[in-house]
Amino acid sequence: MAPELMRAICDEVVTRILANADELTDLDQAIGDGDHGINMKRGFEAIAAQAEEICGLPPGAALQKAGMTLVMKIGGASGPLYGSMFIAMGKAMTAPPDSQEDLAASLAEGVEAVKKRGKSQAGEKTMLDVMVPVLAAIDQPTDDPLNAARQAADRGLEATKDMLATKGRASFLGERSIGHLDPGARSSALLVHAVCDVLEGRA
Ligand code: ADP
Ligand code: MG
Repeated sequence: MAPELMRAICDEVVTRILANADELTDLDQAIGDGDHGINMKRGFEAIAAQAEEICGLPPGAALQKAGMTLVMKIGGASGPLYGSMFIAMGKAMTAPPDSQEDLAASLAEGVEAVKKRGKSQAGEKTMLDVMVPVLAAIDQPTDDPLNAARQAADRGLEATKDMLATKGRASFLGERSIGHLDPGARSSALLVHAVCDVLEGRA
């Protein structure tokens, strides 16, 4: 993966998180403590500040460094979870990815790391309800993997609305968590769209 492409992905991811931070906070206000936008903004601003250094590294090392930054900069649950995901994806990326299979293999490790750290799985109204379907979508041959990934992200996000939260702060609400989108699922969907749009030359 060319350094310019990595830089484009990095810049777009940061732009989308910052542009949608208020929405993430609103969603977290409904079923959490209202800091998800602030947390994500802090973490991705820290990545932006190191973008030059991060994007000068091979992709695997760059993802690991970005993940470490998220772990260090984000206080909430999402920092260690996204951090673990990026670090595990980076570790799996021993060579620059040049196929859908490579990306799926790396994402599979990332998803596994979130499950392990969060002691969670899909269906519990979390970021995994986006990341697990996205992985499933690209983990099989498709004509248009980027579109498949975006659609899986959107459907996964929408599905969190009717779910009962059983992990994280939203689980404290019990039945009252139903009827709201999960903030972490929304931030995951933003990340998936940003990466796919850049890979497709749309952003
Ligand atoms: P906090 O919950 O500490 O305030 P954030 O608000 O930044 O942290 O992040 C909340 C999001 O983290 C949730 O919307 C959910 O998607 C995700 N999350 C929380 N706990 C878990 C878990 N155990 N496994 C997977 N994702 C989780
Ligand atoms: Mg929160």
